[in-house]
Amino acid sequence: MKLRKTAAVAVAVLALTATACGGKEGSAGDKKAQKPGESGAPQLPTYTVAKDVALDSPTFKEAKKRGKLVIGSKADQPYLGFEDQSTKKRSGFDVEIAKMIAADLGFTADQIEWKTVDSGVRETAISKGQVDYYVGTYTINDKRKKQVGFAGPYYLAGADLLVRKDETAITGKDAVKGKKVCSIKGSTPLEEISKPEYGAKTTELAKYSDCVQQLLTKQVDAVTTDDAILKGYAADNPTKLKVIGSPFTKEPYGIGMDKDDKALRDAINDSLDKHIKDGTYKKIYDATLGLSASEYKAPPALERY
Ligand code: GLU
Repeated sequence: MKLRKTAAVAVAVLALTATACGGKEGSAGDKKAQKPGESGAPQLPTYTVAKDVALDSPTFKEAKKRGKLVIGSKADQPYLGFEDQSTKKRSGFDVEIAKMIAADLGFTADQIEWKTVDSGVRETAISKGQVDYYVGTYTINDKRKKQVGFAGPYYLAGADLLVRKDETAITGKDAVKGKKVCSIKGSTPLEEISKPEYGAKTTELAKYSDCVQQLLTKQVDAVTTDDAILKGYAADNPTKLKVIGSPFTKEPYGIGMDKDDKALRDAINDSLDKHIKDGTYKKIYDATLGLSASEYKAPPALERY
């Protein structure tokens, strides 16, 4: 009897420890993180679809006419912008932010047509009108502002390094000299790590998931991009990959759209502002990005222009 009681206590303690370590561990522990929407994971909020929205925005008017909103995003970034290849269901922080905005513009989730647009072709897709707006770990900067408009920022990330779990030599950005570092075309972290001062040998691919594959098969020594993205890959491969955890750039995420569509930009900023204040933003975060090892930070102030 006594023995049994001890065993029961031990089980309870174990369970408690597991709970305490769950969720946030991601890259640090060996436990797989929960997925957005999975049972037991924090619930996603529901979005109230606005009625009778009128907006003096060419993009909005065109979308209303066609009865569909075309949103550009990523499909291979778990917890941010991910498409399940068997169910075709999209999940992640960026996907939910995009749906939240769509609802404020009067579009239901069924009226959204998703388009996967990778980093290297974002400006082209937006300026050619192939998407109405874009939500996909898209850093706001002056160079891009010459071609596209940005609402936000709605999140602040920073470039970091993803390495294999047994890596000891690469301890940060100052230890990549002569190392093979993979990143993707058209991304700001690739631009950064290509600077001669780092002395890295860069591999440039089209998708981060391809870089991660090369890291797992030892064709490259590290992957660089935003910490938020890398933590998602580490959370999916907790026994094989880890994030260094010393971000070395500032990557404020914006929502990309037509450069001159100020009415749409203002409306999207209003939507972000409203839902940061009413708690929807935090709920989205907890149910998506918060499941990987990304700690919650209050979003940066909106930069309206
Ligand atoms: N935030 C960075 C960028 O916009 C890297 C992530 C990405 O490629 O989407 O370039």
